[in-house]
Amino acid sequence: MAAQTKQVVGPNKVVAVYFTLKNDAGEVIETNRRGGKPLIYLHGVKAILPGLEQALEGKAKDDQFSVSVPPELAWGHHRPEFVEKVMRSTLPADVALQPGMLLRGTDPNGRPVAATVVKIEGDEVTVDRNHPLAGKVLHYEVIVAGVRDATREEVMHGHVHGPGGAHH
Ligand code: ZN
Repeated sequence: MAAQTKQVVGPNKVVAVYFTLKNDAGEVIETNRRGGKPLIYLHGVKAILPGLEQALEGKAKDDQFSVSVPPELAWGHHRPEFVEKVMRSTLPADVALQPGMLLRGTDPNGRPVAATVVKIEGDEVTVDRNHPLAGKVLHYEVIVAGVRDATREEVMHGHVHGPGGAHH
């Protein structure tokens, strides 16, 4: 029987991870840990946050670790110039706006945009176009569920095919 070398996370590897993301207060923001499907991604192509990708480098199946990712390696710093006042009439009329609500739409070029409602004052609505996790330190608990070689096609396409990836 041929000896199998242990697969470790690195460029051109397809990696499956379970993770729980918490904020500074310890509240769970996102998790796929309990009965969820692992996140499957191609390593080394910035498919996931830089800080998480760096922390996964060299890890193997069943490795568990925690990492706190600073904003500069996650969604960036919160930029005050992205907070602005808009007229209520420029926002969807059928939505009952509330502070904290995340609005999704497209910009004039058709690109997806999101904004969080900060406050509503009469006809003026303050929205924050920063990513909701901008400026936040992200605390991840990670379990590596699997590591395999990417196929040549996956490397060429820059993404994973099959379960958890693109089907084409
Ligand atoms: Zn593809």
